[in-house]
Amino acid sequence: MRSPGLFDTEHEQFRESVRRFLETEAVPHREAWDAAGRIDRDLWRSAGALGMLGSAIPDQYGGAGADRLYPFIAAEELGRSGFAFAGWTVQDICCQYILKYGTEDQKQAWLPGLCAGDIIASVAMTEPGAGTDLKAIRTTARRDGDDYVLSGQKTFITNGPSCDVAIVVAKTDPAAGAKGVSLFLVEANRPGFDKGRNLQKLGQKLQDTGELFFNEVRVPASSLLGTEGQGFFHLMSDLPFERLLISVNAVAAARSAFEMTVEYARARPLFGATLLDQQNSRFRLAELKTEIAVGQAFVDQLLAGYLAGTTNGDDAAMAKYWTTELQCRVADACVQLHGGNGYMLDYPITRAYADARAQRIYGGSNETMRDLIGRTL
Ligand SMILES: Cc1cc2nc3c(=O)[nH]c(=O)nc-3n(C[C@H](O)[C@H](O)[C@H](O)COP(=O)(O)OP(=O)(O)OC[C@H]3O[C@@H](n4cnc5c(N)ncnc54)[C@H](O)[C@@H]3O)c2cc1C
Repeated sequence: MRSPGLFDTEHEQFRESVRRFLETEAVPHREAWDAAGRIDRDLWRSAGALGMLGSAIPDQYGGAGADRLYPFIAAEELGRSGFAFAGWTVQDICCQYILKYGTEDQKQAWLPGLCAGDIIASVAMTEPGAGTDLKAIRTTARRDGDDYVLSGQKTFITNGPSCDVAIVVAKTDPAAGAKGVSLFLVEANRPGFDKGRNLQKLGQKLQDTGELFFNEVRVPASSLLGTEGQGFFHLMSDLPFERLLISVNAVAAARSAFEMTVEYARARPLFGATLLDQQNSRFRLAELKTEIAVGQAFVDQLLAGYLAGTTNGDDAAMAKYWTTELQCRVADACVQLHGGNGYMLDYPITRAYADARAQRIYGGSNETMRDLIGRTL
């Protein structure tokens, strides 16, 4: 049950259209796109046409001009559908950075294409030697006349292999610590910008995730996004948005795993009855149902607070940590209830189990979330 009054009729209509879109245009192609390691470019444009990309971006920049619940609805429906594609969520996050910190020229140049799905964006923070400890990044952006020159390497970048532009986190003043980090909008066709491998993952296989290399990539000073030296703070400025996007997706994915397992247990004969008739199955599923309801109530409360401006980064850290652990816990229990079938890729629960695992690692690892929560004590 959802919190009364959170979503209105228009929200529900949008949800319905996203649900239909995923069911008819995305999910049927999962196996082919898993094998390809990426989705068709056309699907980006279809998602754009539906208003799924940059839904909360004002219409003057090509967005749907909707309220900030819309990206959450899209993230929820992605979780529900089993189409574990984080790329559109990342695209929304990029749009928000540009809307918030971009110059008028940058907004005009990038936002319409991003909202239409004609342009694909990525956020390139992590490096082989620096993930959680972002201050340890080694990518630099050296000022040279009217340009900056970027050198370095990034890894695990969602949308990296297919991106047309990357928001690159680089040090403009390596001696200044957190105050020496800046953001740059770097076009993928710039000389010296090379894409490495599309990395092979445990799950989320249809989502491309890759390495990016910057070998003396020259960009004009107008590529700086936001204020020089403030990149770290820009990245941290809307953490509730990013963490809640993962949280709503996690609860929806957990519910989906639970529902497919109830259906399976009802149909599976066991000892002259069904799997669902066994007391352990009912007890386990009852526990999962309760935990999902608790998680849902928590994220709904934080979503309402987010709209009202009262949900802070620590609240969202609690949600990100707890809901992604919930998703993994539910997926694991559901695999167990499926028995051997739960280990076979023919069954959607197996995919749900593999897809879930990364949610505890990215978006700020769950250890980072615990650390942040611990600091409030
Ligand atoms: C599928 C996927 C998609 C991703 N997409 C992107 C992307 O689009 N852009 C991007 O920039 N990055 C992306 N990442 C990278 C992701 O954000 C990092 O993997 C994550 O931040 C952890 O960094 P790390 O891998 O370097 O691990 P490390 O920082 O080396 O951490 C290793 C372990 O140590 C733990 N740890 C860290 N700090 C502490 C501490 N203080 N105390 C105790 N334990 C600690 C961590 O939680 C983790 O368990 C993605 C990763 C994955 C798996």
